[in-house]
Amino acid sequence: MTQSQRSRERIRGRYAPSPTGDLHLGNLRTAVLAYLFAHSGDGLNDGPGELLYRIEDLDRSRVRHGVADRQRADLEALGLVFDPPLVVQSERTDAYREALQSLAGKTFECFCSRREIAEAASAPHGSPGRYPGTCRDLTEAERAERRRTRQPAIRLLADREPLTVIDLVYGEVTGIPDDIVLQRNDGTPAYHLAVVLDDAESGVNQVVRGDDLLGSAISQAYLARLLGRQVPNYAHVPLALNAEGNRLAKRDGAVTPADLAARGVGPAEVLTMIAVSLDLAADAEPVDLETLRARFDPERLPRYPWIVTG
Ligand code: GLU
Repeated sequence: MTQSQRSRERIRGRYAPSPTGDLHLGNLRTAVLAYLFAHSGDGLNDGPGELLYRIEDLDRSRVRHGVADRQRADLEALGLVFDPPLVVQSERTDAYREALQSLAGKTFECFCSRREIAEAASAPHGSPGRYPGTCRDLTEAERAERRRTRQPAIRLLADREPLTVIDLVYGEVTGIPDDIVLQRNDGTPAYHLAVVLDDAESGVNQVVRGDDLLGSAISQAYLARLLGRQVPNYAHVPLALNAEGNRLAKRDGAVTPADLAARGVGPAEVLTMIAVSLDLAADAEPVDLETLRARFDPERLPRYPWIVTG
C-alpha cells in the first residue's frame, strides 16, 4: 500500500500493556500519547481515529493476578476510552501457532541460552542486542544432538537486506532485520510474533509505544511483510526516567496511581503532570483529554526523556 492510499485510512492505534505490574507515570504517558496520536491525526492520516486495547499476557510466569484490571482502571481514570475489540493474547495461542506454521522454511531452531547469546554478542565483532547467528546453520545431525539436552526456541531466518519503516518521531528508520524469537523454548508463542499478528489482524495501522522498542520495529515490520500483512506506521515516544537516568520503575517512589493517591495526588493531577511533561499544559493547570487533543501537535512532541523524581 502506498503512503497516499494509507493517508485515506482511519487511524487505528492500540495500547498494549503486559499485566506484570502496575502502570507507572511513564506507561500512563505513553498511553495518553497513543490516544492523542490516534485522535488528532498524525501528519500522514487525519483524525479522529480509534484506539484499541490489548492485554499482552503470554508470559504466564510474570503475569500478576488483578493487575490487568487495575491497569485498565488507572487508564480509564485519566479519561482514556478504548474502542473494541479487546484482544487478550492468552486467548489467541492457536492463531499464533498457525502463523508460525505458515512460516515453515523461514525459521530455524535455536538452542542458545540467554547467557550464550549475550556472551557471543558482546565478543569482539559481536553486535550487542542482535542474535549472533549461532544456530542458523546447524546441520540436521547437530540439531538432533542438541535436542537431546535442550528444547529449541524457534527463530526467524531473517534476510540481511535493509528495510525502512516510517516513525512519526524518529522519521524514516532503516535497519537490518534480526533473527527474532517466534516461539520460546517452553513452547509459548513469543512477543514479536504475537504483536505483529495481533496488530495486523486488528487492522492496527499506527503503533505508539516507548522508544525502548524502536530496535524491534525493523524486525517486526519484516515479519509483518513475510506474513503478507500491512506494516503499520510507528511512533516511538520518549520514556520516563528516574533521577539517575534509568528507566522509571516502581521502586523509584510514588510513581503509580495508587502510590500517588496515597499522597493525595488523584487522576486529575496525574493527567496534569503528564500534560506538563508534554508541554501541553502550564504547571498545575487543570486539563482534560479533549483539551490536550486540541493542543497536541506530533511535530512538537518533546524528543527527550521525562525525568520523574518520585
Ligand atoms: N506489552 C509491551 C509492554 O508492555 C508493549 C508491546 C508493544 O507495544 O509492542 O512493554
